[in-house]
Amino acid sequence: MGLRIHFVVDPHGWCCMGLIVFVWLYNVVIIPKIVLFPHYEEGHIPGILIIIFYGISIFCLVALLRASITDPGRLPENPKIPHGEREFWELCNKCNLMRPKRSHHCSRCGHCVRRMDHHCPWINNCVGEDNHWLFLQLCFYTELLTCYALMFSFCHYYYFLPLKKRNLDLFVIRHELAIMRLAAFMGIIMLVGITGLFYTQLIGIITYHWKKVLQPQKLDLSCSHKYLHE
Ligand SMILES: [Zn+2]
Ligand SMILES: [Zn+2]
Repeated sequence: MGLRIHFVVDPHGWCCMGLIVFVWLYNVVIIPKIVLFPHYEEGHIPGILIIIFYGISIFCLVALLRASITDPGRLPENPKIPHGEREFWELCNKCNLMRPKRSHHCSRCGHCVRRMDHHCPWINNCVGEDNHWLFLQLCFYTELLTCYALMFSFCHYYYFLPLKKRNLDLFVIRHELAIMRLAAFMGIIMLVGITGLFYTQLIGIITYHWKKVLQPQKLDLSCSHKYLHE
C-alpha cells in the first residue's frame, strides 16, 4: 500500500510529540538500567525478556513516526468524483474544495481529510482514512510497552529477589526510588489515556460496522463520531 508522506508544521504539535518521545526515551533508558539488566546479571530473569522489551520499544517508536508522517487522507485539489457519487460530495467552505461526506476540514493541518476521526496533537497529525490503522497500531504497542514496563517495575519491588550487587556510584542507583516513581507515574498516565482512547475507538468501529449492517443507505449521510468537527 503506497502511503504518501507529509509533515504538519505546527509548533504546538511538535511540543506534544516531543513530550511523547521524551516519555518513551526515559523509560527505554531507565527500565533496562535499573531493573532488567541488574536482575538478568543476577540470574533472576532470562535475557529474552530484555530483547522483547527493546523489540516492543522499537515497534512503538516506528508506529509513532509512521502515524505522524503518513498522509491521513488529504483531498487533492482536483479530485476525481466517482460516477454516481456526486450527490454525496459537498464544497468545503474553508478550503473551497470538493470533498466526500464524512470528510472534515482540519484547521491545524489546513486541509480536508477523508473520514477524519480527530486531529491528534500527540502524533502531530490528523487521524483519517489512510492512517487510522497506523494510529490503532501505535495505541496497541504503547499499551503493550506500558504494561510491560509497569509489570517489571512492580516485580522489581514486590516479586524479584533483592539485588545483591548495587553500584551506588551510579546516579540512577542513588536516586532509584524517585526515578522509578516518575517512570510509574508516566506509565499509569499513558495506560489510563490509551485505554480510554482504545475504548472510544472500539465503540466507534463497532457502531460503524453495526450501522453498515443495519442501515447501509444512511451511513454516508451522517458522521459516526460526535467529536469530529474542528
Ligand atoms: Zn477544507
Ligand atoms: Zn489535522
